Amino acid sequence: MELVLASGNPGKLAEIKALCAPMGIEVVTAASLGFTEDVAETGDTFEDNARLKAVAVSQALGRPALADDSGLVVAALDGAPGVHSARFAGEQADDAANNAKLLDALKDVAPEERGAAFVCVMLCRRPDGAELIASGRLEGRIANQPAGQGGFGYDPVFWLPEPGITVAQLEPGRKNAISHRGQALRELAQGLGEFLGGRT
Ligand code: IMP
Repeated sequence: MELVLASGNPGKLAEIKALCAPMGIEVVTAASLGFTEDVAETGDTFEDNARLKAVAVSQALGRPALADDSGLVVAALDGAPGVHSARFAGEQADDAANNAKLLDALKDVAPEERGAAFVCVMLCRRPDGAELIASGRLEGRIANQPAGQGGFGYDPVFWLPEPGITVAQLEPGRKNAISHRGQALRELAQGLGEFLGGRT
């Protein structure tokens, strides 16, 4: 089974490929099939933005498309950066700039008030408009400083009380086993065969 992924984020792509391989699903990027449009993520929710990306790709390519919209939700910041996670420190911001802005915003916040969650909505959409949706959530805390080289995005500052390290310090397989993305993809995969097999 082959699925088109409506994302060019290399960190997400690597994780989604690794998660899908044992399920017999091969992931190809929309870009590799000639889809070069930069879909504006103007939605107010992760689900809205996942849908915007999946609709654009499934309509352009005439094939089912899988989209992941995900981000970091920080309680002390009233849920920010949320759907703006990729661009928290500005349109051209990289991961280091986003992490620096986050740590600065929380510099006076006590450890027990630094609770946060990674959230992921995974949405598969067929060209006929049918959808399969699943979500995942990983709870943790924002560290005082970055640690670890693995993963991407906010992983170096997202601290897991158990085992007491950041997500960037986890083995990649371990991250996929517990992450918001892994949870969402495993849930989605349960209905995927029937969903794709029943396409028009
Ligand atoms: P989008 O879903 O492409 O809008 O961007 C999601 C953004 O959320 C990424 O660019 C990261 O900054 C952040 N993010 C999502 N998932 C993860 C993760 O697993 N680890 C760290 N950061 C993540």
